[in-house]
Amino acid sequence: MTDRQTPLDIIRRRYPNALSTSDTVDAFLDLMQRRLGIEPRKIMLADSICSDDLNTIEYPERAYEMLGPFKLGGLDGFPFAGLTGMSAFAHHVPTDGAVFVFHGPHIGVSKEGDTGIILRPGQTHHSPCCGAIRAAIDKMVSGTIVPGELTELDYQQNTIEQLLLTHRGRIAGARCAMAESTEVMYSAIENRIDVLASRTEYLCRYLVIMGGVLINSNYDVGSFCSFRRLVCIDLTSGRREDWLDDLLGSAARLAHRAAHDGSEIREARR
Ligand SMILES: [Zn+2]
Repeated sequence: MTDRQTPLDIIRRRYPNALSTSDTVDAFLDLMQRRLGIEPRKIMLADSICSDDLNTIEYPERAYEMLGPFKLGGLDGFPFAGLTGMSAFAHHVPTDGAVFVFHGPHIGVSKEGDTGIILRPGQTHHSPCCGAIRAAIDKMVSGTIVPGELTELDYQQNTIEQLLLTHRGRIAGARCAMAESTEVMYSAIENRIDVLASRTEYLCRYLVIMGGVLINSNYDVGSFCSFRRLVCIDLTSGRREDWLDDLLGSAARLAHRAAHDGSEIREARR
């Protein structure tokens, strides 16, 4: 081990179980093959992540081996595509395949370890990440969020404002309002995904749901994720299996191997 901290070391100061998304996708595809015998091209991927361009720039390359992605998310990853969106991709899946949903809000952690900001490609100054969350917090602090107001012109942002407003005290009392708001969003997104998933019919046997807080770092080192759940549901029996420990163990082994190969966190593959 060297004294020099990798981007992952810095991110783990705030998110101890974070892993790179490219290692995680590798581990996940192995897991699907090992546990269910399902190949990537039989998996219909849907993601509910923020529409931020950085999430597209940092999208892990091997995720494109799956079908999709179907985009469920809008600002900060809330599943704004709703029931119709869920139903759409659930009907696009190969019958001997699986539906895989990844959901989560996102947050930036700068190279210096600052939470909630990021240096974007070609820029010289840091900017907020997630910008929608920063704007909602600022509006909450200035007392200008109107309870219950959802406008046609800014529907997604207004929805986030209302979600955060119901946790105003918790966010105001937190050491880091951005990190706390991201946790509030994580719970809101997880709950909404579960409601949508339970009201959807699938043309396949397996539904796999992965949730976490997506972490953007400086764009040239890719993205990371602090995982909260990975569950596989057999839709024929209703049986649920928790795969999170298996995923974290496999991905950590890949990361360890990469570190010992002399390469740091692999570059974002575009
Ligand atoms: Zn965002």
